[in-house]
Amino acid sequence: MTRYVFITGGVVSSLGKGIAAASLASLFKLRGFRVSLQKLDPYINLDPGTMSPIQHGEVFVTEDGAETDLDLGHYERFVGIQMSQDSNVTSGRVYSNVINKERKGSYLGSTVQVIPHITDEIKNLVIKGAKKADIAFVEVGGTVGDIESLPFLESIRQFSLDLGKSKSMFIHLTLLPYIDVTNEIKTKPTQHSVKELRSIGIQPDILLCRGKNPINQSLKKKIALFTNVSSEAVFSAVDAKSIYDIPIMFSEQGIDKFMMKSFKIRDKKLNLKPWKDYKKKVGKCKNKIKIAMIGKYVDLVDSYKSLNEALYHAGVINNRIVDIVYLDSEKLNKRNIKQLSKMDGILVPGGFGDRGIEGKILAAEFARVNNIPYFGICLGMQISVIEFARNVMKLNKANSTEFNKNTKYPVVALVEEWREKSGKRILADKSKMGGTMRLGSQECIINKDSLAYKMYSKPKIAERHRHRYEVNGNLVGDFEKNGLAFSGKSKKGNLMEMIELKNHAWYVGCQFHPEFTSSPIKGHPLFNGFVNAASKRRK
Ligand code: GLN
Repeated sequence: MTRYVFITGGVVSSLGKGIAAASLASLFKLRGFRVSLQKLDPYINLDPGTMSPIQHGEVFVTEDGAETDLDLGHYERFVGIQMSQDSNVTSGRVYSNVINKERKGSYLGSTVQVIPHITDEIKNLVIKGAKKADIAFVEVGGTVGDIESLPFLESIRQFSLDLGKSKSMFIHLTLLPYIDVTNEIKTKPTQHSVKELRSIGIQPDILLCRGKNPINQSLKKKIALFTNVSSEAVFSAVDAKSIYDIPIMFSEQGIDKFMMKSFKIRDKKLNLKPWKDYKKKVGKCKNKIKIAMIGKYVDLVDSYKSLNEALYHAGVINNRIVDIVYLDSEKLNKRNIKQLSKMDGILVPGGFGDRGIEGKILAAEFARVNNIPYFGICLGMQISVIEFARNVMKLNKANSTEFNKNTKYPVVALVEEWREKSGKRILADKSKMGGTMRLGSQECIINKDSLAYKMYSKPKIAERHRHRYEVNGNLVGDFEKNGLAFSGKSKKGNLMEMIELKNHAWYVGCQFHPEFTSSPIKGHPLFNGFVNAASKRRK
Protein backbone atom coordinates (compact mmCIF):
# COMPACT_ATOMS: atom_id res chain seq x y z
CA MET A 1 0.00 0.00 0.00
CA THR A 2 1.18 3.50 -0.86
CA ARG A 3 2.69 5.65 1.87
CA TYR A 4 2.17 9.39 1.50
CA VAL A 5 4.65 12.13 2.36
CA PHE A 6 3.11 15.60 2.45
CA ILE A 7 5.52 18.50 2.19
CA THR A 8 4.47 21.96 3.30
CA GLY A 9 6.40 25.20 3.60
CA GLY A 10 6.39 27.96 6.15
CA VAL A 11 7.70 31.44 6.97
CA VAL A 12 8.50 32.51 3.39
CA SER A 13 8.08 31.12 -0.10
CA SER A 14 10.91 29.93 -2.35
CA LEU A 15 12.64 27.88 0.34
CA GLY A 16 13.10 25.00 -2.05
CA LYS A 17 10.22 22.68 -1.15
CA GLY A 18 10.30 21.26 -4.65
CA ILE A 19 13.99 20.46 -4.47
CA ALA A 20 13.58 19.01 -0.96
CA ALA A 21 10.73 16.76 -2.15
CA ALA A 22 12.70 15.73 -5.24
CA SER A 23 15.84 15.00 -3.20
CA LEU A 24 13.98 12.81 -0.72
CA ALA A 25 12.15 11.01 -3.52
CA SER A 26 15.49 10.40 -5.20
CA LEU A 27 16.85 8.75 -2.03
CA PHE A 28 13.91 6.35 -1.98
CA LYS A 29 14.21 5.65 -5.69
CA LEU A 30 17.92 4.90 -5.22
CA ARG A 31 16.90 2.38 -2.57
CA GLY A 32 14.75 0.60 -5.09
CA PHE A 33 11.33 1.90 -4.03
CA ARG A 34 8.73 2.99 -6.56
CA VAL A 35 8.13 6.68 -5.97
CA SER A 36 5.78 9.32 -7.35
CA LEU A 37 5.71 13.09 -6.99
CA GLN A 38 2.88 15.54 -7.21
CA LYS A 39 2.46 19.28 -6.76
CA LEU A 40 -0.73 20.85 -5.42
CA ASP A 41 -0.98 24.53 -6.37
CA PRO A 42 -3.49 26.75 -4.59
CA TYR A 43 -4.07 29.28 -7.39
CA ILE A 44 -7.29 29.40 -9.42
CA ASN A 45 -5.78 29.06 -12.91
CA LEU A 46 -6.48 25.63 -14.38
CA ASP A 47 -2.76 25.37 -15.08
CA PRO A 48 0.12 27.84 -15.25
CA GLY A 49 0.02 27.85 -19.07
CA THR A 50 -1.51 31.31 -19.24
CA MET A 51 0.60 32.89 -16.49
CA SER A 52 3.49 35.22 -17.19
CA PRO A 53 6.85 33.58 -16.51
CA ILE A 54 7.85 36.79 -14.72
CA GLN A 55 5.20 36.09 -12.08
CA HIS A 56 5.24 32.37 -11.88
CA GLY A 57 8.52 31.23 -13.39
CA GLU A 58 8.87 28.78 -16.22
CA VAL A 59 5.98 26.66 -17.46
CA PHE A 60 7.26 23.09 -17.47
CA VAL A 61 5.82 20.86 -20.19
CA THR A 62 5.39 17.15 -19.57
CA GLU A 63 5.69 14.30 -22.05
CA ASP A 64 1.89 14.09 -22.32
CA GLY A 65 1.58 17.81 -22.97
CA ALA A 66 0.55 19.22 -19.58
CA GLU A 67 1.64 22.79 -18.86
CA THR A 68 2.78 22.64 -15.27
CA ASP A 69 4.64 24.19 -12.39
CA LEU A 70 8.42 24.37 -12.65
CA ASP A 71 8.85 22.12 -9.61
CA LEU A 72 7.88 19.21 -11.85
CA GLY A 73 11.09 19.90 -13.74
CA HIS A 74 13.04 19.32 -10.51
CA TYR A 75 11.11 16.11 -9.91
CA GLU A 76 12.05 14.76 -13.34
CA ARG A 77 15.67 15.89 -13.14
CA PHE A 78 16.29 14.50 -9.64
CA VAL A 79 14.30 11.32 -9.84
CA GLY A 80 14.34 10.47 -13.53
CA ILE A 81 10.66 9.58 -13.71
CA GLN A 82 8.19 11.18 -16.05
CA MET A 83 5.53 13.53 -14.78
CA SER A 84 2.08 13.70 -16.37
CA GLN A 85 -1.21 15.62 -16.40
CA ASP A 86 -1.99 14.12 -12.99
CA SER A 87 1.21 15.36 -11.38
CA ASN A 88 0.11 18.98 -10.99
CA VAL A 89 -3.24 19.84 -9.42
CA THR A 90 -4.42 23.44 -9.03
CA SER A 91 -7.40 24.82 -7.11
CA GLY A 92 -8.77 25.78 -10.51
CA ARG A 93 -8.69 22.15 -11.64
CA VAL A 94 -10.30 20.94 -8.40
CA TYR A 95 -13.11 23.49 -8.49
CA SER A 96 -13.67 22.95 -12.19
CA ASN A 97 -14.03 19.18 -11.67
CA VAL A 98 -16.46 19.70 -8.79
CA ILE A 99 -18.53 22.25 -10.71
CA ASN A 100 -18.70 19.93 -13.73
CA LYS A 101 -19.89 17.11 -11.50
CA GLU A 102 -22.47 19.38 -9.91
CA ARG A 103 -23.81 20.35 -13.36
CA LYS A 104 -24.09 16.69 -14.24
CA GLY A 105 -26.11 16.09 -11.10
CA SER A 106 -23.52 13.84 -9.52
CA TYR A 107 -24.11 15.23 -6.03
CA LEU A 108 -27.73 14.10 -5.92
CA GLY A 109 -29.29 17.22 -4.52
CA SER A 110 -26.77 17.99 -1.81
CA THR A 111 -25.34 21.43 -1.14
CA VAL A 112 -21.86 21.40 -2.69
CA GLN A 113 -19.33 22.60 -0.14
CA VAL A 114 -15.58 22.93 0.45
CA ILE A 115 -15.84 20.16 3.03
CA PRO A 116 -16.48 17.41 1.96
CA HIS A 117 -16.82 17.96 -1.83
CA ILE A 118 -13.71 19.99 -2.60
CA THR A 119 -11.60 18.11 -0.06
CA ASP A 120 -12.83 14.74 -1.39
CA GLU A 121 -11.98 15.79 -4.94
CA ILE A 122 -8.46 16.75 -3.77
CA LYS A 123 -8.08 13.35 -2.08
CA ASN A 124 -9.13 11.56 -5.26
CA LEU A 125 -6.66 13.56 -7.31
CA VAL A 126 -3.89 12.82 -4.81
CA ILE A 127 -4.63 9.10 -4.99
CA LYS A 128 -4.66 9.29 -8.80
CA GLY A 129 -1.35 11.17 -8.80
CA ALA A 130 0.29 8.58 -6.56
CA LYS A 131 -0.02 5.97 -9.30
CA LYS A 132 0.17 3.12 -6.79
CA ALA A 133 3.79 3.97 -5.94
CA ASP A 134 5.39 2.66 -2.74
CA ILE A 135 6.02 6.21 -1.57
CA ALA A 136 4.08 9.17 -2.92
CA PHE A 137 5.53 12.62 -2.33
CA VAL A 138 2.94 15.39 -2.38
CA GLU A 139 4.12 18.98 -2.22
CA VAL A 140 1.63 21.66 -1.23
CA GLY A 141 2.43 24.95 -2.96
CA GLY A 142 2.36 28.30 -1.19
CA THR A 143 3.12 29.01 2.42
CA VAL A 144 1.23 27.83 5.49
CA GLY A 145 -1.06 30.65 6.59
CA ASP A 146 -2.24 31.51 3.07
CA ILE A 147 -6.03 31.52 2.83
CA GLU A 148 -5.84 29.85 -0.58
CA SER A 149 -4.07 26.71 0.53
CA LEU A 150 -6.55 25.90 3.34
CA PRO A 151 -8.68 23.38 1.36
CA PHE A 152 -5.52 21.49 0.37
CA LEU A 153 -4.21 21.40 3.94
CA GLU A 154 -7.59 20.37 5.29
CA SER A 155 -7.76 17.65 2.70
CA ILE A 156 -4.35 16.17 3.51
CA ARG A 157 -5.20 16.35 7.21
CA GLN A 158 -8.32 14.25 6.64
CA PHE A 159 -6.50 11.95 4.29
CA SER A 160 -3.73 11.29 6.79
CA LEU A 161 -6.35 10.40 9.37
CA ASP A 162 -7.93 7.92 6.94
CA LEU A 163 -4.54 6.40 6.16
CA GLY A 164 -3.20 6.08 9.69
CA LYS A 165 0.11 7.08 11.19
CA SER A 166 2.42 4.57 9.54
CA LYS A 167 1.04 5.35 6.09
CA SER A 168 1.39 9.12 6.04
CA MET A 169 3.81 11.75 7.15
CA PHE A 170 4.03 15.54 7.23
CA ILE A 171 7.29 17.29 6.49
CA HIS A 172 7.43 21.02 7.07
CA LEU A 173 10.16 23.15 5.53
CA THR A 174 10.83 26.38 7.36
CA LEU A 175 13.38 29.15 7.50
CA LEU A 176 15.79 29.84 10.33
CA PRO A 177 16.89 33.41 9.73
CA TYR A 178 20.36 34.40 10.83
CA ILE A 179 20.81 37.81 12.42
CA ASP A 180 24.26 39.15 11.60
CA VAL A 181 24.48 41.83 14.29
CA THR A 182 23.84 39.48 17.19
CA ASN A 183 25.30 36.40 15.47
CA GLU A 184 22.15 34.42 16.23
CA ILE A 185 19.90 31.96 14.47
CA LYS A 186 16.27 32.77 15.14
CA THR A 187 13.69 30.06 15.71
CA LYS A 188 10.63 32.22 16.36
CA PRO A 189 9.34 32.28 12.73
CA THR A 190 9.54 28.47 12.71
CA GLN A 191 7.66 28.24 16.00
CA HIS A 192 4.93 30.45 14.58
CA SER A 193 4.72 28.58 11.33
CA VAL A 194 4.31 25.23 13.08
CA LYS A 195 1.77 26.81 15.43
CA GLU A 196 -0.19 27.86 12.36
CA LEU A 197 -0.05 24.31 10.98
CA ARG A 198 -1.11 22.80 14.28
CA SER A 199 -4.03 25.21 14.52
CA ILE A 200 -5.46 23.54 11.42
CA GLY A 201 -4.85 20.11 12.84
CA ILE A 202 -1.55 19.17 11.25
CA GLN A 203 1.30 18.15 13.51
CA PRO A 204 4.49 17.93 11.44
CA ASP A 205 6.50 14.72 11.84
CA ILE A 206 9.70 16.20 10.44
CA LEU A 207 11.05 19.72 10.28
CA LEU A 208 13.52 20.71 7.62
CA CYS A 209 15.17 23.93 8.68
CA ARG A 210 16.58 25.99 5.87
CA GLY A 211 19.48 28.22 6.77
CA LYS A 212 23.04 29.22 5.98
CA ASN A 213 24.59 26.84 8.51
CA PRO A 214 23.75 23.45 10.04
CA ILE A 215 21.86 23.68 13.31
CA ASN A 216 23.35 22.28 16.50
CA GLN A 217 21.81 19.94 19.05
CA SER A 218 20.74 22.61 21.51
CA LEU A 219 18.93 24.56 18.82
CA LYS A 220 17.24 21.36 17.65
CA LYS A 221 16.06 20.77 21.21
CA LYS A 222 14.70 24.27 21.46
CA ILE A 223 12.83 23.95 18.17
CA ALA A 224 11.54 20.52 19.23
CA LEU A 225 10.24 21.87 22.51
CA PHE A 226 8.28 24.67 20.90
CA THR A 227 6.93 22.71 17.96
CA ASN A 228 6.09 19.37 19.58
CA VAL A 229 8.36 17.59 17.08
CA SER A 230 10.94 15.19 18.49
CA SER A 231 14.47 16.63 18.32
CA GLU A 232 15.64 13.64 16.21
CA ALA A 233 13.13 14.77 13.61
CA VAL A 234 14.55 18.27 13.26
CA PHE A 235 16.97 18.39 10.34
CA SER A 236 19.03 21.03 8.59
CA ALA A 237 18.47 22.08 5.02
CA VAL A 238 21.62 24.06 4.51
CA ASP A 239 22.16 26.30 1.47
CA ALA A 240 24.00 24.07 -0.97
CA LYS A 241 26.69 24.93 -3.49
CA SER A 242 24.88 22.83 -6.03
CA ILE A 243 21.27 21.70 -5.69
CA TYR A 244 22.42 18.23 -6.76
CA ASP A 245 24.34 17.91 -3.47
CA ILE A 246 21.10 17.97 -1.51
CA PRO A 247 20.24 14.25 -1.74
CA ILE A 248 23.69 13.52 -0.25
CA MET A 249 23.23 16.16 2.46
CA PHE A 250 19.85 14.74 3.42
CA SER A 251 21.04 11.17 3.51
CA GLU A 252 24.10 12.07 5.61
CA GLN A 253 21.71 13.35 8.26
CA GLY A 254 19.68 10.16 8.03
CA ILE A 255 16.40 11.81 7.05
CA ASP A 256 15.49 8.94 4.75
CA LYS A 257 16.28 6.37 7.45
CA PHE A 258 14.16 8.26 9.93
CA MET A 259 11.29 8.24 7.43
CA MET A 260 11.61 4.50 6.83
CA LYS A 261 11.49 3.88 10.55
CA SER A 262 8.32 5.91 10.97
CA PHE A 263 6.78 4.16 7.99
CA LYS A 264 7.81 0.84 9.48
CA ILE A 265 9.31 -0.27 6.19
CA ARG A 266 12.35 -2.42 5.89
CA ASP A 267 15.56 -0.60 5.00
CA LYS A 268 16.82 -1.27 1.48
CA LYS A 269 20.39 -0.58 0.48
CA LEU A 270 20.90 2.94 -0.77
CA ASN A 271 22.99 3.43 -3.89
CA LEU A 272 24.22 7.01 -3.56
CA LYS A 273 26.96 6.53 -6.14
CA PRO A 274 25.28 8.50 -8.95
CA TRP A 275 25.06 11.64 -6.78
CA LYS A 276 28.51 11.15 -5.26
CA ASP A 277 30.09 10.74 -8.68
CA TYR A 278 28.22 13.77 -9.86
CA LYS A 279 29.51 15.86 -6.98
CA LYS A 280 33.07 14.86 -7.84
CA LYS A 281 32.53 15.79 -11.46
CA VAL A 282 31.10 19.18 -10.51
CA GLY A 283 34.12 19.77 -8.26
CA LYS A 284 36.43 19.27 -11.22
CA CYS A 285 34.84 21.98 -13.34
CA LYS A 286 37.17 24.93 -13.20
CA ASN A 287 37.13 26.86 -16.46
CA LYS A 288 34.28 29.22 -17.16
CA ILE A 289 32.50 29.87 -20.41
CA LYS A 290 30.04 32.65 -21.05
CA ILE A 291 26.70 32.01 -22.66
CA ALA A 292 24.44 34.94 -23.48
CA MET A 293 20.75 34.25 -22.92
CA ILE A 294 18.82 36.75 -25.00
CA GLY A 295 15.37 36.90 -23.48
CA LYS A 296 12.67 39.19 -22.29
CA TYR A 297 11.98 37.55 -18.94
CA VAL A 298 15.51 38.18 -17.68
CA ASP A 299 14.38 39.82 -14.42
CA LEU A 300 13.38 36.48 -12.96
CA VAL A 301 15.86 33.70 -13.67
CA ASP A 302 13.22 31.14 -12.66
CA SER A 303 11.56 32.01 -15.98
CA TYR A 304 14.29 29.98 -17.63
CA LYS A 305 14.69 27.32 -14.93
CA SER A 306 15.03 24.23 -17.12
CA LEU A 307 17.29 26.09 -19.55
CA ASN A 308 19.57 27.16 -16.73
CA GLU A 309 19.72 23.60 -15.46
CA ALA A 310 20.31 22.13 -18.94
CA LEU A 311 23.23 24.52 -19.48
CA TYR A 312 24.62 23.60 -16.06
CA HIS A 313 24.33 19.87 -16.87
CA ALA A 314 26.05 20.34 -20.23
CA GLY A 315 28.74 22.39 -18.50
CA VAL A 316 29.50 19.57 -16.08
CA ILE A 317 29.64 17.07 -18.94
CA ASN A 318 32.10 19.33 -20.77
CA ASN A 319 34.05 20.11 -17.60
CA ARG A 320 33.05 23.74 -17.63
CA ILE A 321 31.28 26.20 -15.39
CA VAL A 322 28.66 27.88 -17.53
CA ASP A 323 28.26 31.51 -16.69
CA ILE A 324 24.89 32.62 -18.06
CA VAL A 325 24.74 36.29 -18.98
CA TYR A 326 21.09 37.34 -19.19
CA LEU A 327 20.56 40.09 -21.71
CA ASP A 328 17.27 41.88 -22.17
CA SER A 329 16.52 41.64 -25.89
CA GLU A 330 14.56 44.90 -25.76
CA LYS A 331 17.78 46.72 -24.90
CA LEU A 332 19.84 45.27 -27.76
CA ASN A 333 20.39 47.45 -30.79
CA LYS A 334 22.81 47.90 -33.69
CA ARG A 335 25.12 50.06 -31.56
CA ASN A 336 25.54 47.72 -28.60
CA ILE A 337 25.22 44.32 -30.26
CA LYS A 338 29.03 44.07 -30.43
CA GLN A 339 29.04 43.19 -26.72
CA LEU A 340 28.12 39.68 -27.89
CA SER A 341 31.62 39.16 -29.28
CA LYS A 342 32.76 38.52 -25.67
CA MET A 343 30.41 35.54 -25.47
CA ASP A 344 31.32 31.93 -26.17
CA GLY A 345 27.78 31.05 -27.18
CA ILE A 346 24.46 32.78 -27.80
CA LEU A 347 21.14 31.25 -26.87
CA VAL A 348 17.75 32.61 -27.87
CA PRO A 349 15.10 30.82 -25.80
CA GLY A 350 11.37 30.36 -26.28
CA GLY A 351 8.94 33.21 -25.86
CA PHE A 352 5.62 34.70 -26.88
CA GLY A 353 4.63 38.09 -28.26
CA ASP A 354 6.54 40.71 -30.19
CA ARG A 355 8.38 42.47 -27.38
CA GLY A 356 12.15 42.36 -27.89
CA ILE A 357 11.93 40.48 -31.19
CA GLU A 358 14.21 42.82 -33.15
CA GLY A 359 16.96 42.50 -30.52
CA LYS A 360 16.78 38.72 -30.81
CA ILE A 361 17.02 38.94 -34.61
CA LEU A 362 20.15 41.10 -34.22
CA ALA A 363 21.66 38.53 -31.87
CA ALA A 364 20.98 35.66 -34.29
CA GLU A 365 22.57 37.66 -37.10
CA PHE A 366 25.59 38.48 -34.96
CA ALA A 367 26.09 34.80 -34.15
CA ARG A 368 25.70 33.74 -37.79
CA VAL A 369 28.04 36.37 -39.23
CA ASN A 370 30.69 36.09 -36.51
CA ASN A 371 30.74 32.29 -36.29
CA ILE A 372 29.70 32.25 -32.60
CA PRO A 373 27.89 29.05 -31.50
CA TYR A 374 24.16 29.72 -31.61
CA PHE A 375 21.30 27.77 -30.14
CA GLY A 376 17.77 28.87 -31.01
CA ILE A 377 15.02 27.18 -29.06
CA CYS A 378 11.41 27.33 -30.25
CA LEU A 379 10.97 31.08 -30.75
CA GLY A 380 14.78 31.14 -31.06
CA MET A 381 14.59 28.91 -34.13
CA GLN A 382 11.81 31.03 -35.65
CA ILE A 383 13.99 34.10 -35.05
CA SER A 384 16.84 32.46 -37.01
CA VAL A 385 14.52 31.75 -39.91
CA ILE A 386 13.29 35.37 -39.95
CA GLU A 387 16.85 36.68 -39.73
CA PHE A 388 18.06 34.42 -42.53
CA ALA A 389 15.12 35.39 -44.76
CA ARG A 390 15.71 39.10 -44.23
CA ASN A 391 19.48 39.26 -44.38
CA VAL A 392 20.55 36.39 -46.60
CA MET A 393 17.55 35.92 -48.88
CA LYS A 394 16.80 39.63 -48.90
CA LEU A 395 13.11 39.10 -48.23
CA ASN A 396 12.58 42.56 -46.88
CA LYS A 397 10.70 42.67 -43.56
CA ALA A 398 10.10 38.91 -43.56
CA ASN A 399 8.40 38.04 -40.31
CA SER A 400 6.26 35.68 -38.31
CA THR A 401 2.55 36.38 -38.47
CA GLU A 402 2.68 36.33 -34.67
CA PHE A 403 4.43 39.73 -34.88
CA ASN A 404 3.05 41.12 -38.12
CA LYS A 405 -0.19 39.66 -39.44
CA ASN A 406 0.22 41.37 -42.83
CA THR A 407 3.87 40.70 -43.54
CA LYS A 408 4.65 40.16 -47.22
CA TYR A 409 6.89 37.21 -46.36
CA PRO A 410 5.28 35.10 -43.64
CA VAL A 411 8.27 32.79 -43.13
CA VAL A 412 6.78 31.68 -39.82
CA ALA A 413 3.01 31.41 -39.52
CA LEU A 414 0.11 29.37 -38.25
CA VAL A 415 -0.23 26.33 -40.48
CA GLU A 416 -3.56 27.72 -41.75
CA GLU A 417 -1.80 30.91 -42.77
CA TRP A 418 1.04 29.46 -44.80
CA ARG A 419 1.17 31.31 -48.07
CA GLU A 420 3.16 30.93 -51.23
CA LYS A 421 5.60 33.64 -52.21
CA SER A 422 2.99 35.08 -54.56
CA GLY A 423 0.96 35.87 -51.49
CA LYS A 424 -1.66 33.32 -52.44
CA ARG A 425 -3.05 31.81 -49.29
CA ILE A 426 -3.10 28.04 -49.29
CA LEU A 427 -4.09 25.59 -46.66
CA ALA A 428 -1.12 23.30 -46.41
CA ASP A 429 -2.37 21.20 -43.62
CA LYS A 430 -5.85 20.41 -42.44
CA SER A 431 -4.86 19.32 -38.95
CA LYS A 432 -6.13 21.35 -36.03
CA MET A 433 -2.69 22.43 -34.92
CA GLY A 434 -2.85 26.01 -36.13
CA GLY A 435 -4.49 28.31 -33.66
CA THR A 436 -4.06 25.91 -30.83
CA MET A 437 -0.90 24.99 -28.97
CA ARG A 438 1.17 22.09 -30.14
CA LEU A 439 1.98 20.53 -26.81
CA GLY A 440 3.94 17.59 -25.48
CA SER A 441 6.21 15.00 -26.96
CA GLN A 442 6.23 14.49 -30.73
CA GLU A 443 8.44 12.55 -33.05
CA CYS A 444 11.07 14.14 -35.22
CA ILE A 445 12.99 12.48 -38.04
CA ILE A 446 16.58 13.58 -38.40
CA ASN A 447 18.49 13.84 -41.64
CA LYS A 448 21.52 11.53 -41.40
CA ASP A 449 23.80 14.01 -43.09
CA SER A 450 23.50 16.70 -40.43
CA LEU A 451 25.00 18.15 -37.30
CA ALA A 452 21.74 17.26 -35.54
CA TYR A 453 22.36 13.60 -36.34
CA LYS A 454 25.90 13.88 -34.97
CA MET A 455 24.46 15.23 -31.74
CA TYR A 456 21.71 12.66 -31.28
CA SER A 457 23.35 9.68 -33.05
CA LYS A 458 19.94 8.41 -34.01
CA PRO A 459 17.50 9.10 -36.82
CA LYS A 460 14.32 9.30 -34.75
CA ILE A 461 13.83 11.35 -31.61
CA ALA A 462 10.88 12.59 -29.57
CA GLU A 463 10.94 16.01 -27.95
CA ARG A 464 8.44 18.24 -26.15
CA HIS A 465 6.67 21.11 -27.86
CA ARG A 466 4.87 24.25 -26.73
CA HIS A 467 4.08 26.62 -29.56
CA ARG A 468 1.48 27.65 -32.13
CA TYR A 469 3.49 28.93 -35.06
CA GLU A 470 5.53 26.88 -37.55
CA VAL A 471 8.16 27.59 -40.16
CA ASN A 472 6.25 28.12 -43.41
CA GLY A 473 6.60 24.80 -45.19
CA ASN A 474 5.93 26.36 -48.60
CA LEU A 475 9.11 28.40 -48.46
CA VAL A 476 11.45 25.70 -47.20
CA GLY A 477 12.96 24.94 -50.62
CA ASP A 478 14.12 28.56 -50.97
CA PHE A 479 15.84 28.44 -47.60
CA GLU A 480 17.64 25.23 -48.44
CA LYS A 481 18.89 26.67 -51.73
CA ASN A 482 20.39 29.54 -49.77
CA GLY A 483 22.17 27.34 -47.23
CA LEU A 484 19.81 26.95 -44.28
CA ALA A 485 19.31 23.23 -43.80
CA PHE A 486 16.20 21.69 -42.26
CA SER A 487 17.84 18.81 -40.45
CA GLY A 488 14.79 17.58 -38.53
CA LYS A 489 11.20 17.27 -39.69
CA SER A 490 7.97 15.93 -38.24
CA LYS A 491 6.99 12.35 -38.99
CA LYS A 492 4.83 13.38 -41.93
CA GLY A 493 7.62 15.66 -43.14
CA ASN A 494 5.43 18.77 -43.27
CA LEU A 495 6.56 20.54 -40.09
CA MET A 496 10.11 21.84 -39.70
CA GLU A 497 11.60 20.73 -36.39
CA MET A 498 15.29 21.58 -36.67
CA ILE A 499 17.49 23.92 -38.67
CA GLU A 500 21.24 24.30 -38.99
CA LEU A 501 23.86 26.21 -40.91
CA LYS A 502 26.73 24.52 -42.70
CA ASN A 503 30.14 26.17 -42.46
CA HIS A 504 29.49 27.50 -39.01
CA ALA A 505 31.06 26.64 -35.63
CA TRP A 506 27.67 25.41 -34.33
CA TYR A 507 24.38 26.90 -35.36
CA VAL A 508 21.28 24.91 -34.48
CA GLY A 509 17.64 25.76 -34.00
CA CYS A 510 14.88 23.49 -32.81
CA GLN A 511 11.14 24.01 -32.72
CA PHE A 512 10.85 21.90 -29.56
CA HIS A 513 12.13 22.43 -26.01
CA PRO A 514 15.09 20.14 -25.35
CA GLU A 515 15.68 21.77 -21.95
CA PHE A 516 12.77 19.83 -20.43
CA THR A 517 14.48 16.48 -20.89
CA SER A 518 18.02 17.34 -19.83
CA SER A 519 19.21 15.39 -16.78
CA PRO A 520 22.18 16.11 -14.54
CA ILE A 521 23.93 12.85 -15.27
CA LYS A 522 23.37 12.65 -19.04
CA GLY A 523 22.67 16.25 -19.97
CA HIS A 524 20.99 16.56 -23.35
CA PRO A 525 22.64 15.92 -26.74
CA LEU A 526 21.93 19.41 -28.10
CA PHE A 527 23.01 21.28 -24.96
CA ASN A 528 26.08 19.06 -24.62
CA GLY A 529 27.00 19.86 -28.24
CA PHE A 530 26.32 23.57 -27.89
CA VAL A 531 28.40 23.93 -24.71
CA ASN A 532 31.15 21.84 -26.28
CA ALA A 533 31.28 24.15 -29.29
CA ALA A 534 31.24 27.19 -26.99
CA SER A 535 34.10 25.71 -24.91
CA LYS A 536 36.23 25.42 -28.03
CA ARG A 537 36.30 29.19 -28.33
CA ARG A 538 38.33 29.27 -25.11
CA LYS A 539 41.12 27.06 -26.42
N1 GLN B 1 5.57 32.25 -29.88
C1 GLN B 1 6.03 31.16 -30.66
C2 GLN B 1 4.91 30.23 -31.06
O1 GLN B 1 3.88 30.21 -30.44
C3 GLN B 1 7.13 30.40 -29.95
C4 GLN B 1 6.69 29.73 -28.69
C5 GLN B 1 7.83 29.28 -27.82
O2 GLN B 1 8.95 29.74 -27.98
N2 GLN B 1 7.56 28.39 -26.88
O3 GLN B 1 5.05 29.46 -31.98
